[in-house]
Amino acid sequence: MSVLSQFDPEVASYIKEEETRQHDKIRMIASENSVSKAVMEATGSILTNKYSEGYTGKRYYEGQQVIDKIEDLAISRAKELFGADHVNVQPYSGSPANLAVYLAFIKPGDTILGMALPHGGHLTHGSRASISGKYFNAVSYELDENTGLISYDRIEELALQHKPKIIVAGHSAYPRQLDFKRFREIADKVGAILFVDMAHFAGLVAGGAHPSPIPYADVVTTTTHKTLRGPRGGMILCKEEYAKAIDKAVFPGIQGGPHNHTTAGIAVALKEALSPKFKDYAAQIVKNSQTLAKVLMEKGFKLVTDGTDNHLILIDLRNKDVTGKQAAKALDRAGIVCNYNTVPKDDRKAFDPSGIRMGTATLTTRGFKEEEMTQVALWIDKVVTNWDKEEVLDQIAKEVKELCNKKPVPEMF
Ligand SMILES: *Cc1c(COP(=O)(O)O)cnc(C)c1O
Repeated sequence: MSVLSQFDPEVASYIKEEETRQHDKIRMIASENSVSKAVMEATGSILTNKYSEGYTGKRYYEGQQVIDKIEDLAISRAKELFGADHVNVQPYSGSPANLAVYLAFIKPGDTILGMALPHGGHLTHGSRASISGKYFNAVSYELDENTGLISYDRIEELALQHKPKIIVAGHSAYPRQLDFKRFREIADKVGAILFVDMAHFAGLVAGGAHPSPIPYADVVTTTTHKTLRGPRGGMILCKEEYAKAIDKAVFPGIQGGPHNHTTAGIAVALKEALSPKFKDYAAQIVKNSQTLAKVLMEKGFKLVTDGTDNHLILIDLRNKDVTGKQAAKALDRAGIVCNYNTVPKDDRKAFDPSGIRMGTATLTTRGFKEEEMTQVALWIDKVVTNWDKEEVLDQIAKEVKELCNKKPVPEMF
């Protein structure tokens, strides 16, 4: 960053500082990852200079000789990777992608059925704080109070009762795989569109470590920057019959010009995801979270659903002497970064709930395996037991940094 350091040392120094933080910490925020240098170079390229409203062959500005090739490449790689009929790679991120789906299929006031936010759903699945809950009649399904699992019978009941136009499957904090076939059957019973938001687990689907929603869903959205390990962005994948409606909803429905530098970064990330090594990465993500879950449970931690079969775990801290926020803050001080999270039947408020959420994608990218995950679990136990003892936390932070020095993020995947 020689030019940036010279022109704007303030911003350059902040980037450097964040780079050091990312290197020195065990990053376990379930929605994050670390991208390759190749993805970064594409994303930081001169492609940011170009306007290209519209789609290949139908743009509103001239000079698209190269951009059309880049967007077509990203689309064809996404189709190959996920086996989708049609792909739109222009959404600026996951939230606008979801908004475009609503715009394509329903009108304000129509009913949608999605997972409740405190139970692991996303804001855009009908939360009252979001446009999805303000403009639509949002009905929410909750997890089974006792098992923490999705109750498909309950979803079916709600669907029959409320006749939603769209059923949303997908989550930001659910540690289990989803039964897309069952979602499809429920949607068919009430004539609803089945919309799967695979933002969190798209990388697992791509690498064969999670069932694919593509054969079942009418439309699938994803972010590109979580387990999929690309730049920040979004994609919509759908059946051919919905292609026109989806494209129109993205542009001109809710967006203007696509972020071409991001499209190129997505194309690069998709090339990585198509390589055989990506299957190992996806499988290792799950092995890592299962190792973490196993050691934590041996140490007396209560995990929502008593385990995991994806990239994340949700720890219910109610049998420990600490709240979610206190634990998350103590862990951060000890060099382990995660977030506090509500758990099913939480009696505490969302800004200081009873749980914490942790994911293994970033650590897997860094080369952490079962051995390191066991060590991480032991540190987590020590932090939670000693959450108010600063000397203990600072000592763990030193040990964390030593391990991180041995495992830098590789530049190429
Ligand atoms: C992260 C996430 C999104 C939104 O992504 P942004 O890129 O932050 O807008 C949408 N849906 C789910 C399920 C997510 O986890």
